[in-house]
Amino acid sequence: MNPDIVVKEYPKLPKSKHSGLKWTLVHIGNDITYGLAFVAGELLRMNHKIMWVDGDDDIQKLNKQVKDFSPDYICFGPLSTEFSRSVELVKEFKKILPSTKSVFGGKHVLAIPDEIKNNKDIDYLVWGPVYDTIDKIIDSPVKTTIKGAPTYPCNMQPALEEYFQQVPRMGRRERKYIMSHFGCVYNCSFCCTSVTRKSYGAKAYKEYWLARRPVENMIEEAKLFLKYPTKEISFEDDDVLYGTHEGGEGTQWLNEFTKAWKKEINIPMYANVTPQTVVKATDEALATLADLADTVTMGVQTTGGDSSKLFNRHFQDENQVIEAVKIMTSFGVKVKLEVIIGLPNIDGLVPDPVTDAIRTIQMCQRITKEAPPDMTWTSCFPLMLYPGTALYDKANKAGVPLSEACEFEWHSGEGSVKFDKLTMNRIRNMTKMATMFIKYDMSERWMRALMDSNLTDSSSRQLSECQYLESLVFRLGDKIEDEFDDILKDMHFKY
Ligand code: SF4
Repeated sequence: MNPDIVVKEYPKLPKSKHSGLKWTLVHIGNDITYGLAFVAGELLRMNHKIMWVDGDDDIQKLNKQVKDFSPDYICFGPLSTEFSRSVELVKEFKKILPSTKSVFGGKHVLAIPDEIKNNKDIDYLVWGPVYDTIDKIIDSPVKTTIKGAPTYPCNMQPALEEYFQQVPRMGRRERKYIMSHFGCVYNCSFCCTSVTRKSYGAKAYKEYWLARRPVENMIEEAKLFLKYPTKEISFEDDDVLYGTHEGGEGTQWLNEFTKAWKKEINIPMYANVTPQTVVKATDEALATLADLADTVTMGVQTTGGDSSKLFNRHFQDENQVIEAVKIMTSFGVKVKLEVIIGLPNIDGLVPDPVTDAIRTIQMCQRITKEAPPDMTWTSCFPLMLYPGTALYDKANKAGVPLSEACEFEWHSGEGSVKFDKLTMNRIRNMTKMATMFIKYDMSERWMRALMDSNLTDSSSRQLSECQYLESLVFRLGDKIEDEFDDILKDMHFKY
């Protein structure tokens, strides 16, 4: 193994002053709360006791579970979409256990609006990684904001076993996550990556967030997936081809990881790439990736000149995306494209969001035509503006009104920007129908006609479910359709 990739001399994590306290970890939503699983790992390393609860259960059941365990601390790691449920739950838990302290953590903490920060039921806010925060939480007065210490990935290990046992629908979830590192080299204006980089500094970000975890730690983690009904693994690194250009260290890491994965785990995997890295990756890295993953997700977002500027992604154009798609498909890897619509008109860059959305869809139609049949699929998101990001600040400064309907749920089609009623409906419908528009290569006339429909609740749900099913069929084949109803049962599908 290349010694530059897995460094052996990393300092060990410090010993803890405290142990034996009880911590409840609250899962919310349909996806693995991966960050909280690392919190669980750190708490167990410090010999504390943990209990997971499913925050989507009804409140009476939760109250009983929490009261029986009587924790010293209750931890939430909510994404923006889960804030309102977290706030509702912490209020309930505080009623029955007033002396239990609550902790809100995760990379979205800096994005929490002030009224949540000042909520009397929230005792501690923890920003960044969990490391070096547990003793500080215990030793600090309430209403302290605590910042986690940058930590080498070889010292970061999630604890998933208790999670899968105590939140069984997550154990049964057909898709599990894994990550080899926790950063990204890009700086998209709508993404909170830049917030972390700014907070810890570019040097620390490169050293800690972009370093990869040792292969053996990841394999150890993944062995648990074999004990649960897992159909696919989402390799959640923002770019699995990071560092695989000629002379980079990424190719060797990917080789070693792939060999170990195929030998010991061998569950189908899909991974994220960016056009930029695909066109620069070595053939060896691409062949290895093809061996590892059947499908990649390629964040395209937009390639219209002006909207790219708004997203700070002007380094990429349509030709590069086409080249990247051709490269991936020539290696036999299917490509899921991701794009964003519903952009605000800042600095006159996107004067008409509906036309911009149509241009984005048409771009995907062109890209799709350049690839072999059935080798691409597109997911279209409404733009979500997360507080603290560069684009959020820019929109704020430009006086862009924000929509109260946005709950950061992409299947709902509700984005952050508040347009007039007609435009809102069009953007919502476009996100729900984009996959179909692209798959069936619909003309602008058809798109404009359909985007003006007034969907009933039932048609809105069914369209979103169709898109979700399409994504599963694309990756896992037609058979998954037989299990789709069961998959939906374990999700609280928001549309
Ligand atoms: S590529 Fe993805 S993770 Fe990286 S900055 Fe852009 S949106 Fe964020």
